[in-house]
Amino acid sequence: MPAWEPVIGLEVHVHLKTRSKIFCRCENRFGAEPNSLVCPVCLGYPGTLPVLNGHAVDLAATLALALGCEVHQRSVFARKNYFYADLPKGYQISQSDRPLAERGNLPLTEHARSVRVHRLHLEEDAGKLLHEWPGGGPTGGVSLVDFNRCGVPLVEIVSEPEIASAAEAEDYLRSLHQVLLFTGASPITQITGQALPTMDVATAATIAQARAESQAMRGGVANCCHSICSSLRFVWVGSRASREPKNCSALSIGVESEI
Ligand SMILES: [Zn+2]
Repeated sequence: MPAWEPVIGLEVHVHLKTRSKIFCRCENRFGAEPNSLVCPVCLGYPGTLPVLNGHAVDLAATLALALGCEVHQRSVFARKNYFYADLPKGYQISQSDRPLAERGNLPLTEHARSVRVHRLHLEEDAGKLLHEWPGGGPTGGVSLVDFNRCGVPLVEIVSEPEIASAAEAEDYLRSLHQVLLFTGASPITQITGQALPTMDVATAATIAQARAESQAMRGGVANCCHSICSSLRFVWVGSRASREPKNCSALSIGVESEI
């Protein structure tokens, strides 16, 4: 029986620092009155058409170059259809087959190695469900929805599944945080920020085996876990827990982010 070792890939969603949303002229601002920054485009009314925010593309390309990615001359947006209460359109505009950039590299700060970046693509954020009134107080068993975040520009940065420990995962996120601060592409700050790390964790006998099976892992093999993490501390806890496949259920943690 081989000794199991964790194999971690990280997907990080980062808000971009634009004045308006990615496909409409609504203001991109955190903390406004709920449902005050919306229009027919970001609410998905029939007959409306998105118009791409060029500054969001510039910021995403800047970030991609800072990560050593190859930025493609041509990339394509597509509709990702799913039903959820915070997505009034019923689909998210994202990039699938033709992402903005691929094949980057992020040197780690605390470890003498780099982690390859698989891809970086643009997409829009969804709304936000609230389970208490803004400012606090029970809602009497109903959920509220704030659509202000619908259409806020995001980049998703996907690493290769070659992170080998919780310490490396934390190092990767801290190193990425430094790139975000340096480029100024995101409103992320030293203390809190608009970044949401998601872990894909699998266990394998060796890292080499995991690399060989990486395509299968992305499809989701039996011992692969998927987790949305709310902070570096949760990345640490989550990836330690995932050393044992039976603990995978412990990885379903939180939503809001701080890195
Ligand atoms: Zn709008």
